[in-house]
Amino acid sequence: MNKIENYIHGKKISFSNKTLPIFDPSKGEKISEVVLSDDKDFNELIKSSTKGFEIWKEFTPLKRSRIISKFKNLIEKNIDNLAKAVSTEHGKTLDDARGSVTRGLEVVEFATGIPHLLKGEFSQNVGSNIDSWSVRQPLGITAGITPFNFPAMVPMWMFPISIACGNSFILKPSEKDPSCPIMLAELFSEAGLPDGVLNIINGDKHIVNRLLLSDKISSISFVGSTPVAKYIYKTASENGKRVQALGGAKNHLVVMPDANLKQAVDGIIGAAYGSAGERCMAISVAVAVGDIANELVSKISDRAQTLKVAPWVDNNAEMGPLISLEHKNKVENYIAQGEKDGANLLLDGRNCSIQGYENGYFVGPTLFDGVTEEMTIYKEEIFGPVLSVVRVDDYNSALNLVNKHAFGNGTSIYTSDGEISRHFTTNCQIGMVGINVPIPVPMAFHSFGGWKQSLFGDHSMHGMEGIHFFTKLKTITSRWPKSIKSGPEFVIPTN
Ligand code: NAD
Repeated sequence: MNKIENYIHGKKISFSNKTLPIFDPSKGEKISEVVLSDDKDFNELIKSSTKGFEIWKEFTPLKRSRIISKFKNLIEKNIDNLAKAVSTEHGKTLDDARGSVTRGLEVVEFATGIPHLLKGEFSQNVGSNIDSWSVRQPLGITAGITPFNFPAMVPMWMFPISIACGNSFILKPSEKDPSCPIMLAELFSEAGLPDGVLNIINGDKHIVNRLLLSDKISSISFVGSTPVAKYIYKTASENGKRVQALGGAKNHLVVMPDANLKQAVDGIIGAAYGSAGERCMAISVAVAVGDIANELVSKISDRAQTLKVAPWVDNNAEMGPLISLEHKNKVENYIAQGEKDGANLLLDGRNCSIQGYENGYFVGPTLFDGVTEEMTIYKEEIFGPVLSVVRVDDYNSALNLVNKHAFGNGTSIYTSDGEISRHFTTNCQIGMVGINVPIPVPMAFHSFGGWKQSLFGDHSMHGMEGIHFFTKLKTITSRWPKSIKSGPEFVIPTN
């Protein structure tokens, strides 16, 4: 049985004998195991990351950028293997996996601009013969903890930027699909990254706690579910670290009566059922405004029934399995709860069996109509292919619904009315907003992050928010001795 170890100081190693199984979600079979690191692994990790930082901080931004450029080329060359590793352990379709690696690659591409991105501000003569400027310096050893649903992209929201800024970075990937992160670290080494600058430590909450409590680590980046995000934010902040902790979501897509119905239906189908709904930007609530509801629901239902649910090895697959048996059971329990609470179950994805893959963790596209605010399936994140339709009379009720929800990751509005879309983007209490775009994930040079229960901390991921998160600002005020005419000053200087 293949054992996935840690990647520390350019080598695959582990001391702990404890492991967890990794499953192929399409077949429900154990395919490998991952090490659950212990304190000895952790001590080795910190030793390596400390050395890595000492060496790396001396590299000029341009030299760092050149190594990152080589890393980018290597990802491009190896993209098929990386995508295959994602699909094998996660189950998502190969095209979707390739797309997710590409979205991560775009952050690497952004990070190659680090000499420009780190430029500070300069003011001449802030006082007579006094100049002032600011620089951004690395934090030291930084760490990130990532979820199962994007094993390539989410780590790449973090480590390329941190490393470009001159830090060393420790990644604790999801224990459900840790292979692709190791492959990425190996490629970075091949590109010339010194040992210890990017280390991968595998494990569960024991090792996460070691990261949160260690006084050697300066910052924690986290992406995962809201309860864990809250815990990470609280614990790491209490221990004096800079924290960005992104949590779960319940994203609404509002369909106005003047929307292009075909575009809205296509948008909803892809955003609700793509990647089996295991995306933090998935659309899980469609808000039908006014008299568009009947036609909208019937068209979603027609299209959802033709979706090809299949393992990733089938090139025609549009939707794969869920990550684990436990998660499949959880999603199916939500479907049962929705029925019990009185929602109208139009499509039931339970008992989805694929020939030859009968033990796979498949749940088919599920559609509820007549969902209301009080229902559990409306309030909680399901993280599966379950779409709830909520019907409202007018635009203000739709906006209210979006704003009252505890989560604030993404939302979208489909309309032909510029006034309405402008009002919506201005007034919704959500971090990422689409107008006739179902999944408004910001590009690498903008920043990714939600509001409310979807983000804890002050910074979003990547873009300039990422550069600011991974650097400390220093401002210098300077004058030269010959220009100093007066004696001691006891009053705060003013101009
Ligand atoms: P999760 O919270 O269970 O796990 C995330 C990471 O935290 C993993 O590395 C895991 O090992 C670790 N972890 C889990 N429980 C822990 C604990 N008690 N103490 C310390 N560490 C712990 O999330 P998941 O199931 O891997 O991913 C799905 C969740 O991630 C969904 O809620 C989804 O919305 C969210 N997500 C959010 C975003 C975003 O940008 N907001 C992006 C992707 C996924």
